[in-house]
Amino acid sequence: MKNEFGYISENLRVIKENAAEAADKYRGGVMPRIMAVTKTVSPAAVNYAVSLGIGLLGENRVQEFLSKQESYDPSAEVHFIGHLQTNKVKYIIEPMTMIQSVDSLKLGTEISRLAAIHGKTMDVLCEVNIGGEDSKSGVSPSELVPLLEQLAQLEGIRVKGLMTIPPPSDGDIFLGKMEELFNNIKDRNISGISMDELSMGMTHDYAEAIQHGSTIVRIGTGLFGARDYGTKNA
Ligand SMILES: *Cc1c(COP(=O)(O)O)cnc(C)c1O
Repeated sequence: MKNEFGYISENLRVIKENAAEAADKYRGGVMPRIMAVTKTVSPAAVNYAVSLGIGLLGENRVQEFLSKQESYDPSAEVHFIGHLQTNKVKYIIEPMTMIQSVDSLKLGTEISRLAAIHGKTMDVLCEVNIGGEDSKSGVSPSELVPLLEQLAQLEGIRVKGLMTIPPPSDGDIFLGKMEELFNNIKDRNISGISMDELSMGMTHDYAEAIQHGSTIVRIGTGLFGARDYGTKNA
């Protein structure tokens, strides 16, 4: 196992170095968590990343997760980060510790219902469509506060912050807008929710995202290489 995935440890070293540089410069040295985004990546490669100390995995697709779940090192925590259909919540309510992509009361209500059945409280983030893109899911910034207030009323669900995927162009502007929105919401002190986590930053923009206060950066290709089964190099 040691050399086949050597590129992953080299990639991780570079990511940590860049993240630490941004954290030192802009965040008083406070590092975000680094999530390994696993879509299309083999469980062997994912487990190698876990062996390097990455304790957090991000899954986009329920079906793919179900097919790989049993092969994963159980010590890693798994968050759902993709678009989630209400009828698929039942598959992830038990194995996952956070759903980062809640963008409607309907979805929140189903998570709440199933969490109650399983006797657990599910941590969630609200996904914000900060760029107002038609192609992306997420709640619009203007609808965010009403949604948070409604989610705060539900049993079995605990809102812990926000998640976003900014538009590829002008990303830096939108990361700044997201930071502003996050801080605004935090200052409102909406009862029943907390604003501890701001999940933003991917391979191409994680350093900028850290600058803007990200607490979880989600890295796929920068860690595992181009998304293609069998790819060995970044
Ligand atoms: C794929 C994906 C990522 C990782 O993207 P990379 O550019 O490969 O780092 C992060 N977040 C979400 C929601 C994704 O779907």
